[in-house]
Amino acid sequence: EVCFIGRSNVGKSSLIKALFSLAPEVEVRVSKKPGHTKKMNFFKVGKYFTVVDMPGYGYRAPEDFVDMVEAYLKERRNLKRTFLLVDSAVGITKTDNIAVEMCEEFALPYVMVLTKIDKPSKGHLLKQVLEIQKFVNTQTQGCFPQLFPVSSVTYSGIHLLKCFIANITGNLN
Ligand code: GDP
Repeated sequence: EVCFIGRSNVGKSSLIKALFSLAPEVEVRVSKKPGHTKKMNFFKVGKYFTVVDMPGYGYRAPEDFVDMVEAYLKERRNLKRTFLLVDSAVGITKTDNIAVEMCEEFALPYVMVLTKIDKPSKGHLLKQVLEIQKFVNTQTQGCFPQLFPVSSVTYSGIHLLKCFIANITGNLN
């Protein structure tokens, strides 16, 4: 199982849609957990792996966070990797930092995905990428050193991210 977390509006639903729309042969089932229907979505990818769409934070946090996100991240034994989404045009916000600190505190292996790379100018994007890379290199322990810049509009970076997910879930072949 892998999960996607990010503040509201970061582009999480668009990214999950983009990841699956390029794999039409894969049957994606949304299983609804009672009580969590509006909050957490489980996308089962055949019998291979599950992608969990976590509730966006920033909205109604911290209640949602403490109740669901924190409990899930802390206790989910089969969670292979957490994908933390950051808006490439905005950079790491205070809200994003809460999620970073949580991943660090729980010693989770996580990966930073930079969304909406089609949006900022090339110069601004480069500046953000370098800043975020520096942050990852100097301020984090559990974060994968490579960033995954993506666009759900142009599909840039989507294939690489898919391969990475296939690899860490043991499904590359
Ligand atoms: P969520 O709240 O994190 O699920 O965010 P959404 O996927 O709903 O996206 C929030 C807004 O950002 C929507 O207006 C999307 O159309 C826009 N958006 C999402 N991904 C991209 C992207 O890759 N490029 C651009 N330009 N806009 C995006």
